[in-house]
Amino acid sequence: MAEERKTRMDFDTDSEWYTYQVTHPEVSKDKFDTNSNKKHEKGIFMCEKCGYIIDETDKYFDKVQGKNIKRDSQGNILKCPKCGADKKSLKKIDKDKKNEILRKRRLKEEKEQTKKLDIAKENIKDDIVDLLEDLSIRLKRGEINVDRFVVVFMHLSQKIIDRYAKDLDIDWLDYRKSMLAMSKTVTDLYDVQIDGETILEEYDKNINDDKLYLAEYKYYIEDDKYSIADYELSERIKEYENMQSNLFKEERNRELEEKYQERRKELEEKAELRIQRRIERNIVK
Ligand SMILES: [Zn+2]
Repeated sequence: MAEERKTRMDFDTDSEWYTYQVTHPEVSKDKFDTNSNKKHEKGIFMCEKCGYIIDETDKYFDKVQGKNIKRDSQGNILKCPKCGADKKSLKKIDKDKKNEILRKRRLKEEKEQTKKLDIAKENIKDDIVDLLEDLSIRLKRGEINVDRFVVVFMHLSQKIIDRYAKDLDIDWLDYRKSMLAMSKTVTDLYDVQIDGETILEEYDKNINDDKLYLAEYKYYIEDDKYSIADYELSERIKEYENMQSNLFKEERNRELEEKYQERRKELEEKAELRIQRRIERNIVK
Protein backbone atom coordinates (compact mmCIF):
# COMPACT_ATOMS: atom_id res chain seq x y z
CA MET A 1 0.00 0.00 0.00
CA ALA A 2 1.19 3.51 -0.73
CA GLU A 3 2.33 5.86 1.98
CA GLU A 4 -0.56 7.21 4.02
CA ARG A 5 -1.81 10.44 2.63
CA LYS A 6 -1.25 13.46 4.85
CA THR A 7 -4.04 15.80 5.86
CA ARG A 8 -4.29 19.49 6.71
CA MET A 9 -3.75 18.60 10.36
CA ASP A 10 -0.20 17.40 9.62
CA PHE A 11 0.84 20.91 8.63
CA ASP A 12 1.22 24.12 10.59
CA THR A 13 0.34 26.53 7.85
CA ASP A 14 -2.01 26.62 4.86
CA SER A 15 0.84 27.25 2.46
CA GLU A 16 2.70 24.10 3.56
CA TRP A 17 -0.51 22.15 3.04
CA TYR A 18 -1.12 23.64 -0.42
CA THR A 19 2.47 22.88 -1.40
CA TYR A 20 1.99 19.28 -0.33
CA GLN A 21 -1.19 19.00 -2.40
CA VAL A 22 0.60 20.33 -5.48
CA THR A 23 3.68 18.09 -5.06
CA HIS A 24 1.61 15.03 -4.19
CA PRO A 25 -1.29 15.07 -6.61
CA GLU A 26 -4.05 12.78 -5.62
CA VAL A 27 -4.99 9.98 -8.02
CA SER A 28 -8.64 10.39 -8.73
CA LYS A 29 -10.43 7.55 -7.10
CA ASP A 30 -13.48 7.84 -9.29
CA LYS A 31 -11.49 6.67 -12.31
CA PHE A 32 -10.29 3.47 -10.73
CA ASP A 33 -12.81 2.79 -8.09
CA THR A 34 -15.11 0.35 -9.73
CA ASN A 35 -16.77 -0.22 -6.41
CA SER A 36 -18.07 3.29 -6.01
CA ASN A 37 -21.53 1.86 -5.63
CA LYS A 38 -20.33 -0.47 -2.91
CA LYS A 39 -22.32 -0.49 0.30
CA HIS A 40 -20.96 1.89 2.90
CA GLU A 41 -18.79 0.53 5.71
CA LYS A 42 -18.82 2.26 9.07
CA GLY A 43 -15.66 4.08 10.07
CA ILE A 44 -14.03 7.30 11.21
CA PHE A 45 -13.56 10.03 8.61
CA MET A 46 -11.87 13.38 8.71
CA CYS A 47 -12.61 16.25 6.36
CA GLU A 48 -9.38 17.48 4.79
CA LYS A 49 -10.84 20.90 4.16
CA CYS A 50 -12.06 21.85 7.63
CA GLY A 51 -10.79 19.10 9.94
CA TYR A 52 -14.25 17.94 10.97
CA ILE A 53 -14.32 14.35 12.20
CA ILE A 54 -17.21 11.99 11.60
CA ASP A 55 -17.06 8.96 13.87
CA GLU A 56 -19.65 6.36 12.97
CA THR A 57 -18.14 3.95 15.50
CA ASP A 58 -19.04 6.21 18.39
CA LYS A 59 -21.93 4.82 20.41
CA TYR A 60 -23.80 8.13 20.39
CA PHE A 61 -23.26 8.66 16.68
CA ASP A 62 -26.84 7.95 15.56
CA LYS A 63 -28.34 10.15 18.24
CA VAL A 64 -26.07 13.15 17.83
CA GLN A 65 -23.81 13.50 14.81
CA GLY A 66 -25.55 11.06 12.49
CA LYS A 67 -28.63 13.22 12.14
CA ASN A 68 -26.80 15.90 10.14
CA ILE A 69 -25.19 13.61 7.61
CA LYS A 70 -26.54 13.22 4.09
CA ARG A 71 -26.04 9.85 2.37
CA ASP A 72 -26.64 8.17 -0.95
CA SER A 73 -28.81 5.08 -1.37
CA GLN A 74 -25.84 2.86 -0.44
CA GLY A 75 -25.34 4.72 2.81
CA ASN A 76 -22.19 6.51 1.62
CA ILE A 77 -21.62 9.95 3.09
CA LEU A 78 -22.14 12.61 0.40
CA LYS A 79 -20.34 15.58 1.87
CA CYS A 80 -18.81 17.12 4.97
CA PRO A 81 -21.69 18.26 7.19
CA LYS A 82 -19.66 21.16 8.50
CA CYS A 83 -18.11 22.83 5.45
CA GLY A 84 -19.95 21.07 2.65
CA ALA A 85 -16.77 19.71 1.00
CA ASP A 86 -17.27 16.85 -1.45
CA LYS A 87 -17.03 13.25 -0.15
CA LYS A 88 -13.57 12.98 -1.79
CA SER A 89 -12.29 15.23 0.98
CA LEU A 90 -13.37 12.77 3.66
CA LYS A 91 -10.42 10.54 4.56
CA LYS A 92 -10.71 7.42 6.60
CA ILE A 93 -8.64 7.44 9.80
CA ASP A 94 -8.28 5.00 12.67
CA LYS A 95 -9.20 5.46 16.30
CA ASP A 96 -5.62 6.21 17.43
CA LYS A 97 -5.23 8.87 14.78
CA LYS A 98 -8.52 10.44 15.82
CA ASN A 99 -7.49 10.55 19.48
CA GLU A 100 -4.14 12.02 18.60
CA ILE A 101 -5.76 14.73 16.48
CA LEU A 102 -8.24 15.59 19.22
CA ARG A 103 -5.49 15.74 21.82
CA LYS A 104 -3.44 18.11 19.67
CA ARG A 105 -6.47 20.30 19.10
CA ARG A 106 -7.28 20.42 22.80
CA LEU A 107 -3.73 21.44 23.66
CA LYS A 108 -3.78 24.12 20.99
CA GLU A 109 -7.09 25.45 22.27
CA GLU A 110 -5.87 25.49 25.87
CA LYS A 111 -2.79 27.38 24.83
CA GLU A 112 -4.88 29.94 22.96
CA GLN A 113 -7.23 30.37 25.92
CA THR A 114 -4.32 30.94 28.29
CA LYS A 115 -2.86 33.49 25.91
CA LYS A 116 -6.18 35.31 25.61
CA LEU A 117 -6.61 35.29 29.37
CA ASP A 118 -3.14 36.74 29.92
CA ILE A 119 -3.83 39.54 27.45
CA ALA A 120 -7.23 40.23 29.04
CA LYS A 121 -5.70 40.38 32.51
CA GLU A 122 -3.09 42.90 31.42
CA ASN A 123 -5.71 45.08 29.73
CA ILE A 124 -7.93 44.89 32.82
CA LYS A 125 -5.06 45.85 35.10
CA ASP A 126 -4.11 48.83 32.94
CA ASP A 127 -7.60 50.26 32.86
CA ILE A 128 -8.33 49.68 36.53
CA VAL A 129 -5.09 51.34 37.58
CA ASP A 130 -5.93 54.36 35.39
CA LEU A 131 -9.44 54.49 36.79
CA LEU A 132 -8.24 54.19 40.37
CA GLU A 133 -5.81 57.02 39.84
CA ASP A 134 -8.43 59.25 38.27
CA LEU A 135 -10.98 58.66 41.03
CA SER A 136 -8.40 59.01 43.82
CA ILE A 137 -7.44 62.46 42.54
CA ARG A 138 -11.11 63.51 42.57
CA LEU A 139 -11.49 62.19 46.08
CA LYS A 140 -8.41 64.03 47.27
CA ARG A 141 -9.66 67.28 45.75
CA GLY A 142 -13.01 66.83 47.45
CA GLU A 143 -14.93 66.57 44.18
CA ILE A 144 -16.48 63.26 45.19
CA ASN A 145 -17.12 61.62 48.54
CA VAL A 146 -15.91 58.20 49.64
CA ASP A 147 -19.24 56.46 48.96
CA ARG A 148 -19.31 57.70 45.43
CA PHE A 149 -15.70 56.71 44.97
CA VAL A 150 -16.38 53.12 46.04
CA VAL A 151 -19.49 52.74 43.92
CA VAL A 152 -18.12 54.25 40.73
CA PHE A 153 -14.90 52.31 41.11
CA MET A 154 -16.58 48.94 41.75
CA HIS A 155 -19.16 49.30 39.00
CA LEU A 156 -16.69 50.41 36.40
CA SER A 157 -14.14 47.78 37.36
CA GLN A 158 -16.74 45.12 36.73
CA LYS A 159 -17.59 46.62 33.32
CA ILE A 160 -13.90 46.74 32.45
CA ILE A 161 -13.53 43.07 33.33
CA ASP A 162 -16.63 42.13 31.36
CA ARG A 163 -15.33 44.04 28.40
CA TYR A 164 -12.02 42.19 28.16
CA ALA A 165 -13.06 38.77 29.44
CA LYS A 166 -16.28 38.26 27.50
CA ASP A 167 -15.68 34.71 26.33
CA LEU A 168 -13.10 33.80 28.92
CA ASP A 169 -13.42 31.84 32.08
CA ILE A 170 -12.54 34.48 34.61
CA ASP A 171 -13.35 34.42 38.30
CA TRP A 172 -15.27 37.63 38.89
CA LEU A 173 -15.59 36.90 42.62
CA ASP A 174 -11.82 36.92 43.03
CA TYR A 175 -11.66 40.20 41.18
CA ARG A 176 -14.44 41.64 43.27
CA LYS A 177 -12.53 40.76 46.43
CA SER A 178 -9.37 42.46 45.23
CA MET A 179 -11.35 45.50 44.06
CA LEU A 180 -13.00 45.78 47.45
CA ALA A 181 -9.57 45.52 49.04
CA MET A 182 -8.38 48.41 46.86
CA SER A 183 -11.45 50.43 47.84
CA LYS A 184 -10.76 49.66 51.49
CA THR A 185 -7.22 50.98 51.25
CA VAL A 186 -8.67 54.26 50.06
CA THR A 187 -11.60 54.39 52.52
CA ASP A 188 -9.20 53.64 55.38
CA LEU A 189 -7.23 56.71 54.43
CA TYR A 190 -10.39 58.73 54.98
CA ASP A 191 -11.20 56.88 58.16
CA VAL A 192 -14.57 55.68 56.89
CA GLN A 193 -16.09 53.01 59.11
CA ILE A 194 -18.66 51.65 56.68
CA ASP A 195 -17.50 48.80 54.45
CA GLY A 196 -17.55 48.67 50.68
CA GLU A 197 -20.31 46.03 50.41
CA THR A 198 -22.73 48.17 52.44
CA ILE A 199 -21.94 51.28 50.44
CA LEU A 200 -22.60 49.34 47.26
CA GLU A 201 -25.96 48.04 48.43
CA GLU A 202 -27.18 51.52 49.21
CA TYR A 203 -25.88 53.20 46.11
CA ASP A 204 -26.38 50.54 43.44
CA LYS A 205 -29.78 51.68 42.18
CA ASN A 206 -28.67 55.23 41.51
CA ILE A 207 -25.54 54.48 39.59
CA ASN A 208 -27.00 55.29 36.18
CA ASP A 209 -27.91 58.81 37.28
CA ASP A 210 -24.36 59.50 38.28
CA LYS A 211 -22.90 61.76 35.58
CA LEU A 212 -19.33 61.02 36.58
CA TYR A 213 -20.01 57.29 36.26
CA LEU A 214 -21.50 57.79 32.80
CA ALA A 215 -18.57 59.89 31.65
CA GLU A 216 -16.03 57.38 32.94
CA TYR A 217 -18.05 54.55 31.42
CA LYS A 218 -17.88 56.17 28.00
CA TYR A 219 -14.17 56.75 28.41
CA TYR A 220 -13.20 53.28 29.59
CA ILE A 221 -15.78 51.08 27.92
CA GLU A 222 -16.69 52.91 24.73
CA ASP A 223 -13.28 54.52 24.11
CA ASP A 224 -14.78 58.00 23.94
CA LYS A 225 -11.63 60.06 24.51
CA TYR A 226 -13.44 63.29 25.38
CA SER A 227 -16.25 62.21 27.68
CA ILE A 228 -14.41 62.91 30.94
CA ALA A 229 -13.16 66.33 29.85
CA ASP A 230 -16.72 67.20 28.71
CA TYR A 231 -18.12 66.11 32.06
CA GLU A 232 -15.60 68.24 33.96
CA LEU A 233 -16.43 71.24 31.81
CA SER A 234 -20.16 70.86 32.47
CA GLU A 235 -19.47 70.69 36.21
CA ARG A 236 -17.45 73.91 36.09
CA ILE A 237 -20.03 75.68 33.96
CA LYS A 238 -22.61 75.12 36.72
CA GLU A 239 -20.41 77.02 39.12
CA TYR A 240 -19.76 79.75 36.54
CA GLU A 241 -23.43 80.29 35.78
CA ASN A 242 -24.03 81.29 39.38
CA MET A 243 -21.57 84.16 39.15
CA GLN A 244 -23.00 87.65 39.33
CA SER A 245 -20.35 89.93 37.83
CA ASN A 246 -20.12 89.94 34.03
CA LEU A 247 -16.50 91.03 34.10
CA PHE A 248 -15.46 88.03 36.17
CA LYS A 249 -17.65 85.85 34.05
CA GLU A 250 -15.75 86.72 30.90
CA GLU A 251 -12.43 86.07 32.53
CA ARG A 252 -13.68 82.81 34.00
CA ASN A 253 -15.01 81.75 30.63
CA ARG A 254 -11.57 82.10 29.09
CA GLU A 255 -10.02 80.14 31.94
CA LEU A 256 -12.59 77.38 31.55
CA GLU A 257 -11.98 77.08 27.85
CA GLU A 258 -8.20 76.91 28.32
CA LYS A 259 -8.44 74.36 31.07
CA TYR A 260 -10.86 72.30 29.01
CA GLN A 261 -8.57 72.18 25.99
CA GLU A 262 -5.61 71.18 28.14
CA ARG A 263 -7.52 68.46 29.91
CA ARG A 264 -9.03 67.21 26.67
CA LYS A 265 -5.59 66.79 25.20
CA GLU A 266 -4.22 65.09 28.30
CA LEU A 267 -7.06 62.58 28.47
CA GLU A 268 -6.97 61.99 24.74
CA GLU A 269 -3.28 61.06 24.94
CA LYS A 270 -3.93 58.75 27.86
CA ALA A 271 -6.75 57.03 25.98
CA GLU A 272 -4.61 56.65 22.89
CA LEU A 273 -1.84 55.05 24.92
CA ARG A 274 -4.31 52.53 26.29
CA ILE A 275 -5.67 51.71 22.87
CA GLN A 276 -2.15 51.38 21.48
CA ARG A 277 -1.13 49.02 24.30
CA ARG A 278 -4.15 46.84 23.62
CA ILE A 279 -3.31 46.58 19.93
CA GLU A 280 0.35 45.76 20.59
CA ARG A 281 -0.56 43.04 23.05
CA ASN A 282 -2.69 41.30 20.48
CA ILE A 283 0.00 41.46 17.82
CA VAL A 284 3.13 40.56 19.77
CA LYS A 285 1.83 37.55 21.66
ZN1 LIG B 1 -15.33 19.93 6.15
